[in-house]
Amino acid sequence: GNRTFTMIKPDAVENGHIGAILDKISAAGFKIVAMKFTHLSKRDAEAFYAVHNERPFFGELVSFMTRGPIVAAVLEKDNAVEDFRALIGATNPADAAEGTIRKLYATSLGENAVHGSDSDENAVIESAFHFSGREIF
Ligand code: ATP
Repeated sequence: GNRTFTMIKPDAVENGHIGAILDKISAAGFKIVAMKFTHLSKRDAEAFYAVHNERPFFGELVSFMTRGPIVAAVLEKDNAVEDFRALIGATNPADAAEGTIRKLYATSLGENAVHGSDSDENAVIESAFHFSGREIF
């Protein structure tokens, strides 16, 4: 597939990294086809991360993701899902490769700066969660 979905999470927004992260995304060849600055409600975060609702960190994840504003975006590039996950690096910044967005900007395993869809199917579902068809170009 040629699209993926991302969020710049509350930690990275709080720490002033929106611009730097968007620069990395553009420099890596991704085109932004939708983008918004928004704030997840508790219901939004619980729904978005429903797949994790049995995990011990679910409450922590929901409270983190609702703590402040985020940037949500749909990105376009050949092989988008895989290439974007390579650009962001491992979930835990301690394990992330040099130069990746999480290595540069994430704080911890929980507060890891960015989201990237893990499959083409989830990219479509997650994009539709945040954007109407009219908002995606
Ligand atoms: P994302 O879905 O945000 O791109 P991911 O696919 O790398 O991240 P998942 O395993 O799907 O990682 O976990 C989703 C999110 O939940 C992580 O990005 C992180 O913010 C949080 N998380 C994962 N594991 C833990 C944990 N053990 N403790 C706290 N938070 C965690």
